[in-house]
Amino acid sequence: MTDAYAVIGNPVAHSKSPQIHAAFARETGQAMVYTRLPCELGKFAATVRAFRDGGGRGLNVTVPFKHEAYALCTQRSARAEVAGAVNTLSFNNGEIVGDNTDGVGLTRDITRNLRVGLRGASVLLLGAGGASFGVLGPLLAEAPAQLIIANRTLGKAQALAARFAAQAGACNLAVSGFAELRGRQFSVVINATSAGLNDDMPPLPPPLFAPGALAYDMVYGKDTPFLQFAQTHGATVADGLGMLVEQAAESFFVWRGVRPGTAPVIAMLRAKA
Ligand code: NDP
Repeated sequence: MTDAYAVIGNPVAHSKSPQIHAAFARETGQAMVYTRLPCELGKFAATVRAFRDGGGRGLNVTVPFKHEAYALCTQRSARAEVAGAVNTLSFNNGEIVGDNTDGVGLTRDITRNLRVGLRGASVLLLGAGGASFGVLGPLLAEAPAQLIIANRTLGKAQALAARFAAQAGACNLAVSGFAELRGRQFSVVINATSAGLNDDMPPLPPPLFAPGALAYDMVYGKDTPFLQFAQTHGATVADGLGMLVEQAAESFFVWRGVRPGTAPVIAMLRAKA
């Protein structure tokens, strides 16, 4: 039987992951199928177990199930453990093994594809949901000079910063409300809120972008209000398509032990958009 994988989420119909993994499998000669697995809220564990019991080998997990996926795992990688969120599940010898590839996906896209250095940078991370929990460790590992987390619900930003305080090293890791950002400037601003999905954005006070700053929206495939705002204020902008492909490549490596090329897949998806 061909090895089966899927992306589980709600909603999931829009996901480009099946296209991405099909391209990886073609390139690397892996025999596998990858589909979408819609899941009702409250039925995550049952849906995962049914997929596994039907012969499934692994799942990518998207909004809003990354914390539930973490709780369901019987084993976790170190990066999933520290993130408290899981986006990659593998079913191995009766174990449900969790990993988190979002963070390396983001940092590879920023540093390798976009060629923006994070070492010594002043970084603003907007949002404190599952995605932010996944990316904060790898962002801190790049040794920025400061990293401010701003979120609508300040308590969540505080919990996120507290979880990673021990990994901050020399980086000034702090939290902020949106209004308190007034007058401050950053060299990299990462929007990890889901506001763009609803054509919304956090209430950000300009000037927010230092000269030559990168504005990165994890939402992909749309010109979000955040990217429009950033462009208006002189930043270089990027959406989350590169991160999507890079995190998928890392999941593919976790499952198959083979590292696919990402540049042709990013180019293919951009050409189709
Ligand atoms: P969650 O639902 O866990 O968190 C959502 C976050 O967005 C919270 O911090 C929430 O704030 C904030 N938020 C939502 N709406 C608004 C708004 N109108 N104004 C201000 N803040 C808002 O989602 P995830 O963290 O899992 O995902 C976040 C986004 O990142 C999603 O759009 C997802 O598609 C994208 N993503 C992209 C990836 C890629 O590969 N490109 C990978 C992973 C995620 P509060 O805490 O106050 O509710």
